[in-house]
Order: sequence, then C-alpha cells, then structure tokens
Amino acid sequence: MASDKPTKESFLHLAVYDQRPGSGAVVHLHATYSVAVSVLADLDPADLLPPITAYYVMRVGKLPLVPFYAPGDMKLAEAVRGTASAHHAMLLANHGPVVAGSDLSAALDAAEELEETARLFMLLQGQRTRYLTDGQVAGVRAAFPNDV
Ligand SMILES: [Zn+2]
Repeated sequence: MASDKPTKESFLHLAVYDQRPGSGAVVHLHATYSVAVSVLADLDPADLLPPITAYYVMRVGKLPLVPFYAPGDMKLAEAVRGTASAHHAMLLANHGPVVAGSDLSAALDAAEELEETARLFMLLQGQRTRYLTDGQVAGVRAAFPNDV
C-alpha cells in the first residue's frame, strides 16, 4: 500500500516511538479512504471523524490532523512528535494515517478500523446520519477501557 521506500519515512515512526515508549509497532499507510478524509475541508482538525461504530471508538478513539509538510521535511517529524504524546492515531494532511499500537497486530487492527471508518464516512457524505452520542461513546469507553 505504501509506495515510498521504508527509509524515506522512517523518521515518522521514530518520532512516535520517541513519544510513546509503550508502543510495540507504528504503522504508516497511504490508504485511499484515509487519504480522502485527510483532504476534506471543514472537518475539526482536533478530531476528524465522528464516532460511527463502537469499534472505531475502541481502536482509534480520536483522530487529530497533522498539518501538511512535504515528505522528508523534518518539520513533519516535529509535528508528528508533538501530536503523538497525546494520541496513538493521527492523520497527516493530504498524505495518510500514522497509528501506534502495543504490538503490530494492535496497530494494524487500528489502522484497518480507521480506513474502514474513513470509507464509511465518505459513503455517508450527503446522507442524513445518526452517529453515536456522547453517552454511547462514554459507555463504550467504560466497557473497553484498555482498547484506546
Ligand atoms: Zn507516507
């Protein structure tokens, strides 16, 4: 899925490990629907996607936008570093997601959930929707406190 050579963007992974020492894996993708969401105007940059499903709440939770910098620009690493201290998942503007997990399986599960939720979000554009309420999100978080 990623077209870049691993070394070209390895600094993204290092920036996350540096801020999240408990992370066993960091996944960075150029997955189509996640990239599509990273391009949309008028979303809340503090939390781009709504709580569509319980699994999104459990595995991703919150998705901040990292401003655009050209690939290889060390300002991108600094922006990722600044976001990773408080978030295990983030979306690089006009680029793609960076997701950390306790191990590779957890990071991949969260990245897949993010991509599927981005796909649902794009499918729902222009439709009347009923996302999870704040109370429902709180209920999911209470029932699965270790998932995010
Ligand atoms: Zn990339």
